[in-house]
Amino acid sequence: MIKLDNVSMAFRGRPVLDNISLDIAEGEIMVIIGPSGSGKSTILRLMIGLLKPLAGKIWIDGQEISGASEEELNIIRRNMGMVFQYSALFDSMTVGENVAFGLRQHTALSEEEIARTVRRRLRMVGLNGQESVMPSELSGGMKKRVSLARAIAINPQIVLYDEPTAGLDPIMSTTIDRLICSTRRVLNVTSVVVTHHMSSAFNIADRIAMIYDGRIIEIGTVSEIKKSS
Ligand code: ADP
Ligand code: ADP
Repeated sequence: MIKLDNVSMAFRGRPVLDNISLDIAEGEIMVIIGPSGSGKSTILRLMIGLLKPLAGKIWIDGQEISGASEEELNIIRRNMGMVFQYSALFDSMTVGENVAFGLRQHTALSEEEIARTVRRRLRMVGLNGQESVMPSELSGGMKKRVSLARAIAINPQIVLYDEPTAGLDPIMSTTIDRLICSTRRVLNVTSVVVTHHMSSAFNIADRIAMIYDGRIIEIGTVSEIKKSS
């Protein structure tokens, strides 16, 4: 579903990714783990076409995106949801409008269908009936859940998570981990989760890619990674 072939990246001549190759299967949860500054978010930004690689190729659902036009990228991105590190909700919109945002942008659903989808997505993340609440009234964990509901509103095939449990207490982190797993199960999405929490990686991953200084130093299933560490 997602394939990176010898991808390298640099910012102003400074290398940040060095020959990254990754093949992520449909429905898989791939966790990318590594210290801060190792290039994890850059990988997500490349996958969603916000950055172009310096070298190498990237395929999303069989389509090569490093050479795609902005128009083609927009079509590909309709198939992808992203949960940003700082939730990035629209503060002036209600929770319901935040979740409806992508549906209004990318679909021709009626108001009634939008309301029904929003209701269903909020229920999935445990925020039943919170449509009219403003983001400023929510805790960090609730914002994260709204952000997830927004990312999956348009039924994407792929969801990318950038540090979804950063700054959350352990209980809320576990809740988010469970939601990542239930989202995969219910919608059969392919998930890429960037984190620096090893316990979280062990809880949710099918496979873990360990990245250090822009390189994949190890990749394998949870039991393979546990054995070698
Ligand atoms: P991580 O997500 O693992 O913390 P990032 O992918 O955010 O790492 O960043 C990798 C390196 O690239 C860091 O040194 C960061 O400062 C640098 N970097 C990321 N984005 C940019 C950018 N837009 N311009 C310049 N440097 C960047
Ligand atoms: P993270 O690494 O957790 O994604 P950062 O705080 O490193 O978050 O980066 C936040 C934003 O700043 C990103 O969009 C990244 O591209 C940009 N950025 C990071 N490092 C640099 C840098 N050295 N120069 C310019 N932009 C940067």
